[in-house]
Amino acid sequence: MGSYLATEEQVSTWLHLLAKERDLFWPRSVGQFNYSFLPLGERDEICFDRYLPTIVPPGRRLLPDDETLFTSQQGDDRLSHYLPPQPSAPMVLAGVRPCDLKGITQLDTVMAAAPADPYYHQRRVNTVIIAMNCLAPCDSRCFCSAVGALGAQDGADVFLTLLAEGVLVESLSARGDEILVKASFSLCEDGKERRLVAEGTRPLPFGRELAVVPEALPEMLRKGYESPVYHRYGERCYSCGTCNLVCPTCYCFEVRDEMSLDGFSGRRSRTWDSCMIPAFAEVAGPHNFRAEVGERQRHRLKRKFEYLPERFGLGSFCVGCGRCGRQCTANIDILNMVNDIAVEVGGGS
Ligand code: SF4
Ligand code: SF4
Repeated sequence: MGSYLATEEQVSTWLHLLAKERDLFWPRSVGQFNYSFLPLGERDEICFDRYLPTIVPPGRRLLPDDETLFTSQQGDDRLSHYLPPQPSAPMVLAGVRPCDLKGITQLDTVMAAAPADPYYHQRRVNTVIIAMNCLAPCDSRCFCSAVGALGAQDGADVFLTLLAEGVLVESLSARGDEILVKASFSLCEDGKERRLVAEGTRPLPFGRELAVVPEALPEMLRKGYESPVYHRYGERCYSCGTCNLVCPTCYCFEVRDEMSLDGFSGRRSRTWDSCMIPAFAEVAGPHNFRAEVGERQRHRLKRKFEYLPERFGLGSFCVGCGRCGRQCTANIDILNMVNDIAVEVGGGS
């Protein structure tokens, strides 16, 4: 598990070689200002330091928006036969920022908890991750440092850092070693030291800040359960669910059964769902546990900063990517909401 130094051109050639063997996704520019994790084509140029967070995080490739769980077909014996989906092909997620990497490792834990999710697991074991270090905040929405996601390396197989002298390529796993066999980079004995020097040049504070330490958030949110802040933000919210769909740590889904018109075949699928949509908490009755938009905002915050951190012990389940605020038509920003509650309950300045 060594370290190497290479030029951007050499790394680009290596990634294109990998892309010939399996699907390799890299953040590519789409439209005027947006980026998306898309398959790297033979002629696609790779921008190493000039990409913003993609609209949809890379971890969503592990949890597709519409996934077949099984198909069914009635046989000659008049019984229904159930077929599992085709196993997914090996893939490489490359250019994954540390915040998104942390989101993926949190999903790994959630999906491994009983009852474990075999669909996610099958995809995850077939996925190699090449992460890309951050030496400056990606834009004015970022707050990864405030929630402890900056510099996360867990879950990566290869970790890239842009240095003044070239690209530092660190292998972090046996799979990393395996995909680096084809690369012709120079060995770099003091790779870790060089990375630490580069990380020492990061601006302080790195991105936006929380008004309280993340460990204090669960108690603060309990104290502020009746906070009018949720309802104040709720007044602007369209309940569109975009904030959930672009979040690297959201994973709720809906299950549907579809029958074909002949009545003999069908499929069970799951699609992304969102706790911000009014029908999410609707049950028979009709009763809705979170009919008010302010209640849904509160639930979203408590999932990220209280329920899941306390259940899994992996810190905040918001990795500070800033996507929800960036994509929200109503400009509702989760960090601003948390900080407003902190001020209100006396936890912040
Ligand atoms: S993206 Fe914005 S408007 Fe849409 S549900 Fe989320 S907070 Fe509300
Ligand atoms: S809650 Fe918002 S800022 Fe936090 S990880 Fe999700 S999308 Fe990113």
